[in-house]
Amino acid sequence: MGKKIIIGNLKTNMDYETVVKYIERIKNRITYPAVILVPTSLYVPYFKELNIKLAVQNIYFENEGSYTGEILPSQAKSMGIKYALVGHSERRKNLKENNQMINKKIKAGLKENMGIVLCVGETIEEKVLLETEDVLKRQIFTALKGIDDLKNIVIAYEPVWSIGTGKIPTERELINTIKFIKDFVKELKRGQEIKVLYGGSVNIKNIESLTKIEEIDGYLIGGASTKPEEFIEIINEVESLV
Ligand code: PEP
Repeated sequence: MGKKIIIGNLKTNMDYETVVKYIERIKNRITYPAVILVPTSLYVPYFKELNIKLAVQNIYFENEGSYTGEILPSQAKSMGIKYALVGHSERRKNLKENNQMINKKIKAGLKENMGIVLCVGETIEEKVLLETEDVLKRQIFTALKGIDDLKNIVIAYEPVWSIGTGKIPTERELINTIKFIKDFVKELKRGQEIKVLYGGSVNIKNIESLTKIEEIDGYLIGGASTKPEEFIEIINEVESLV
């Protein structure tokens, strides 16, 4: 297996002054090559000076035109951004983004040769009802419909109940679910392998145990990535263990 990927999703945190301080604090301190930062789009030009791979938090699927507030893959590419998150649970919940829209977004991103991070995961209600696998199947099946080549796609398994709550699945749950996703995709897409990251309350306290789970190909980190010292410690920990 290659290097474990670390994605820092800064979401809609930090005002300009805080962004400047954040950049100052991480500048020249991240040397691990498999880190991708996902800033609020407004601040992308400031993050470019870091020489770290960048992603956008969302992309839109139409061609250039009148879509106020959206960002096109071609626009992201023109700013040197090669990666995009698609289908984050906050967008699914707050903006009613559905699997069909997510499918169109992935296709639009792939058309521009972007690397796509497809976010999937069950809610606590779905988990309690033992629906996790069915939900993941539905999300992945529709999101990848009509897409034959998976080489530019990774999946981030992010249980909704784990995001920002401090709760993470047990080791057994993670191994089972991640294996399930990999097997499902393999069967669905004629034997193709896909990398699966874990996201949800990853922090400096749990990263060591998470790195021991071989099935996990990397981490999508929200809250902890907004704290420069903790984020760097996590990266160092991952780098030292892989
Ligand atoms: C996320 O929102 O993608 C995420 C993983 O957040 P957190 O690490 O804060 O749970």
